[in-house]
Amino acid sequence: MKASEATRLYFGYAADRVDLDDRMRKLLLTPKREVQVQVAIETDNGEIETLIGYRVQHDDSRGPMKGGLRFHPDVDLDEVRSLATLMTWKNAVVNIPYGGAKGGVCVDPKLLSRKELERVTRKFIDQIHDVIGPREDIPAPDMGTNHEIMAWIRNQWEKYHGFNPACVTGKPAEHYGAEGREEATGRGVGILAFKLLGRLGRKPKDTRVAIQGFGNVGTHAAKFLHEADFCVVAISDVSGAYYRPEGIDLPRALRYTIEHEGSLKGFAEADNITNEQLLGLDVEMLIPAALGGVINKDNVDQIRAEIILEAANGPIHPDADIVLHERGVTILPDVLANAGGVTVSYFEWVQNLQHYKWGLNRVRQELDHVLSEAFEQVWQEANDWQVSLRTAAYIIAIRRVHRATLLAGI
Ligand code: NAD
Repeated sequence: MKASEATRLYFGYAADRVDLDDRMRKLLLTPKREVQVQVAIETDNGEIETLIGYRVQHDDSRGPMKGGLRFHPDVDLDEVRSLATLMTWKNAVVNIPYGGAKGGVCVDPKLLSRKELERVTRKFIDQIHDVIGPREDIPAPDMGTNHEIMAWIRNQWEKYHGFNPACVTGKPAEHYGAEGREEATGRGVGILAFKLLGRLGRKPKDTRVAIQGFGNVGTHAAKFLHEADFCVVAISDVSGAYYRPEGIDLPRALRYTIEHEGSLKGFAEADNITNEQLLGLDVEMLIPAALGGVINKDNVDQIRAEIILEAANGPIHPDADIVLHERGVTILPDVLANAGGVTVSYFEWVQNLQHYKWGLNRVRQELDHVLSEAFEQVWQEANDWQVSLRTAAYIIAIRRVHRATLLAGI
């Protein structure tokens, strides 16, 4: 199943519940604009490299469109389209005034020098600068891009349009970046795990957690959960998984990655297991925070966790989602679980537009407020309709986008 088919499937379940007619389904699913451009650069050794870049703008009925920019060799139009659509629902679930978009360049950034990476970024912005901007479509970091790349984007966009740091978010602090943006997605996962546990009548100290992926999202989620008294028993990255039934010493694991270029490779204070084994561990809570599609029909029978938080985008294949739902597993869907990042991106945009900087405490308080409110609404909706949290989240999102579309006039 292609990435965009999974997003359409979940949309369909929720659209059936709210009796959305076929015309409106077509309208809400069709992207507003899809841009494909050639990103040609001169490499350091004088060759010409031609890459393909995409920006898909899905829907702007609730505000300017917003979504990350991914540099990855698997980027294609279908994936970008699917992620742009997902952003529309994500922004609507947490009720921030944005539509959805996503972009990407099909390239492995690890194979580029820093200068080549900068050339790719600037050339891509040369090609799309007239369709992005603070009032139209605001990019942000995603896989393979970071705050430095966002600073290049700002600089390149401003060459055409003049000073306006609100044209991109996830920037460094020196470029009007928000306090707390880096930790926001992982912290949001932690905040939501806490809320969910409260609703399920469980206690953090009795909750063993396994986290797949120890990058930006995984480390900040782990840190928050550890500080909130959850027992994180397993962590992992591309080098493998690390399991200690009594609980991982997280401060040491975090320090280890800082000393080893972000990698857990060689971390000796836990048993070395595989990423596949991590997914099947006997834990109460599983947090996939790395790749899409890691829980699928081949391994779903091995999953023993009763709660899954989708910190990554699309970590559960729809076939497995049905099985887990029927088994009574509580799944907090990606459209809500990882929305902390875009929420703080929204705060950055607000601060840039107002030329007024918030402190970290305010960012954290407002993040807590936005996510808590969204969680309670999704929980309530799921109970009212007797549906999964995923379908409930989509129902809320579709209703908001549908209403905004109707109010504006088609
Ligand atoms: P990252 O690149 O910082 O970290 C990814 C982690 O996954 C790394 O530890 C890496 O080693 C690990 N990994 C890679 N391949 C793996 C494999 N085959 N098996 C196990 N682990 C593997 O990325 P991130 O920003 O933490 O993003 C993680 C996920 O969260 C992605 O799906 C991303 O789309 C999603 N997400 C991120 C944000 C954000 O603000 N960073 C926001 C929303 C969603």
